[in-house]
Amino acid sequence: MTEEIFATDAYARATEATVLEVGPQGVVLDRTVFYARGGGQAGDTGWLRWDGGEVRVADTLRVEGRPAHVVEGDPPRAGTRLNAEIDWDRRHVLMRTHTALHALSGVVWRHHGAKVTGGSMDLGVARMDFELDRISADFGREVEAVLNRELGQDRPIRVLFLPRQQALADSDLIRTKINLIPERVDPIRVIDIEGIDRQADGGTHVRSTGEVGRVRVVKTESKGKAFKRMRIELD
Ligand SMILES: [Zn+2]
Repeated sequence: MTEEIFATDAYARATEATVLEVGPQGVVLDRTVFYARGGGQAGDTGWLRWDGGEVRVADTLRVEGRPAHVVEGDPPRAGTRLNAEIDWDRRHVLMRTHTALHALSGVVWRHHGAKVTGGSMDLGVARMDFELDRISADFGREVEAVLNRELGQDRPIRVLFLPRQQALADSDLIRTKINLIPERVDPIRVIDIEGIDRQADGGTHVRSTGEVGRVRVVKTESKGKAFKRMRIELD
């Protein structure tokens, strides 16, 4: 297996590692700081550097349960000791975007009782769909104001590993359909944005809401009954 450093330390930018395997889909390492695409968050990009070589990592995917680094150029051979470094500037924007999306989901749940039905994110932009029947003309502006007020309080964000039974009994987590997580997953990784949102998640997040910065609601639209879509951008 690969030690996935990003799961417990989202701020680790580089690590020494050894190549375990080189497959058609990418390079597998014994440990990595590269987040593998999943849960709506893009895979990391960056570099692998070793004595006598360097390749750019264009994407990171999960292949047979392990992160696979998709490289441009000749990959290092199995057994090579190398340094793996992510493109931190890009990753940090993704972390801020991902945390903003969780905070948005918490705010819309607490103030409007609406569940999230879908969403997507990219660098500094995201959209989220809500199970919401009717919205006022000011809905977007109201949500934006509350969201920025909450983020501005600089609340801590923690990564928790909860025993499955405990997680299944947590009312905040039930809302986000934690029961759909495969039974073999225990403990369950949870991202807790203090006082705002709590959900099972595999992604990387910033350590405090202040680090997200300000968020703009750029569009709110009705896509039908119980289907409202909101687009946000980071400042
Ligand atoms: Zn998430």
